[in-house]
Amino acid sequence: KKDPNDPLYEIHNQAARLYNILLMSTELGESARKYLLDRGISLDIIKRFNIGLAPDEEDFIYKNLSNKFDEEILANSGLFHFSNNKVFDAFSNRIMFPITNEYGHTIGFSGRKWQENDASKAKYVNTSVTPIFDKSYELWNFDKAKPTISRNHEVYLMEGFMDVIAAYKAGVTNVVASMGTALTEKHVRRLKQIAKNFVLVYDGDSAGQNAIYKAMNLIGEASVQIVKVPEGLDPDEYYKSYGAEGLSRLMVSGRIQPIEFLIEFLRPENLSNLQVQLDFIEKIAPMIARIPSITAQDAYVRKLVEILPDFEYNQVERAVNLRRENM
Ligand code: ATP
Ligand code: MN
Ligand code: MN
Ligand code: MN
Repeated sequence: KKDPNDPLYEIHNQAARLYNILLMSTELGESARKYLLDRGISLDIIKRFNIGLAPDEEDFIYKNLSNKFDEEILANSGLFHFSNNKVFDAFSNRIMFPITNEYGHTIGFSGRKWQENDASKAKYVNTSVTPIFDKSYELWNFDKAKPTISRNHEVYLMEGFMDVIAAYKAGVTNVVASMGTALTEKHVRRLKQIAKNFVLVYDGDSAGQNAIYKAMNLIGEASVQIVKVPEGLDPDEYYKSYGAEGLSRLMVSGRIQPIEFLIEFLRPENLSNLQVQLDFIEKIAPMIARIPSITAQDAYVRKLVEILPDFEYNQVERAVNLRRENM
């Protein structure tokens, strides 16, 4: 049972090995190791996630691997750029995070710039779409996270590599990253096969909040909880400030329900305006009415009332009851 993609897996496997050796065991890798150590990435972590270094050379991988693979494999791998009569490595002078598929095969890379003089370059570069890599389908760390996701029926979703690694250091392993903020229907469908609950732990910035809103609609409110990372921090930065204890506590006990997130996310600027308050009630009341528990409904009515200067409990409760009766 030979998989036609085997040579593509193999070239990635070998590239990942070269990048990893360069980082772990060479003098050239020393300052990159120092960069990672400063960011809390120890040698153990480097090994576990097979992190590497693409050197500041234009054809390091091509020189080492081009004679071992067919032209077609080289062209389809996504590891090279072909321009005129020259071939360039797709990644150079970057910290390399291998991307593995669900079975642990290396299928692509994300490379992070790590030197300040690279100011003009994108922070991360990912492998483009290839026969074995599609970012809209793959989730980083899925292979390693799968057993705990299945066991707990629960998955944590984060944005980035460093966030997932911080969670790992905090002892939480059922975590995957969508490598950015664009969670897709394909991602969700895959995860729903093994997880009932989704816990969103996105960055505490506006991109992160917008991503939570979109993901929540994609997954369905009933299966979502949200961990609000404080403004200006992401999970990795939270770990740096509050340690393993702090991050694991946040992830386990710092969860809020979608309705609580929505009340804050959709909250208009000028809530002193009466009409704005009315419109906001119109928007939120049906959401509260959909919550299964009456006690919870009551609690969120109270939360809503707290931020509405011109309305009292009974008025908002009536709006919710009306919606409930019309459901
Ligand atoms: P770091 O902690 O290393 O600075 P980060 O994960 O906090 O990285 P963010 O800017 O929060 O970086 O982005 C979240 C994720 O989005 C990244 O981990 C990466 O997967 C992806 N990403 C960010 N910038 C880019 C980019 N320019 N191109 C492609 N993917 C990107
Ligand atoms: Mn971000
Ligand atoms: Mn981030
Ligand atoms: Mn970060």
